[in-house]
Amino acid sequence: MSLSQPSISNIPALKVSAAPQLSPRPVLEPLQLVQTQAVPRKVLVLADYVHPYVYRNGFPSGLPEVDLVLAAGDLPGYYLEFLATQLPAPVVYVPGNHENEYITEGDTRIAARGVINAHGRVVEVAGLRVAGWGGVPKYRESKEGQYTDFQARWGLGLLAMRARKDVDIFLTHAPPPGPHAGKDHAHRGCESIQQFMERRHPKLVVHGHIHEYEGKKFEYTDTVSGARVVNAYGYHILDF
Ligand SMILES: [Zn+2]
Repeated sequence: MSLSQPSISNIPALKVSAAPQLSPRPVLEPLQLVQTQAVPRKVLVLADYVHPYVYRNGFPSGLPEVDLVLAAGDLPGYYLEFLATQLPAPVVYVPGNHENEYITEGDTRIAARGVINAHGRVVEVAGLRVAGWGGVPKYRESKEGQYTDFQARWGLGLLAMRARKDVDIFLTHAPPPGPHAGKDHAHRGCESIQQFMERRHPKLVVHGHIHEYEGKKFEYTDTVSGARVVNAYGYHILDF
């Protein structure tokens, strides 16, 4: 018997299902490199003393480039203006208790030019929020540069409210109570400064008014607020 050869037409056509549509390969986002540690800023801090290494011809040669200047009081107006003209960085200051932050022109006293007075306010400079509070707790009769306990409580309470949130730096003339405060009445620490630190958590507190020759350490960490507290007497350059 002969087997009939299947004709080609009997072979069922191979059913090829349509190739599934491949979804396009998802595009991966490029890796985001998160910088966890910002590059520290260089901050020049000064107070109380016209330092000959700063107030000289050729300044700022010999010093690293700084991003911000903080003047913590009792510095004369001509020195503040000198800093503002010699450095490209913003110069923020608070007044001290010697009423010398002015320039005398003829019979008039004018505020130093080219600098930012941060007393009683929060300024944003070099990407940082800086709160300022000049003057010292009252120790004798004077027109300017001293405040009563009530004025400090009121003024610093207002400043904390104006800040609305934490600040990076707190620039003052008087120190908070603690290792930098003087034992004498004129150089005592200010409680309301400490309260502001506990409320607005500055990472750095820069103050003046306490002279280095009193044998105090240049800086310490406040155990309650965690702030680094620096005495700016003379001049210093900090990484922050
Ligand atoms: Zn002072």
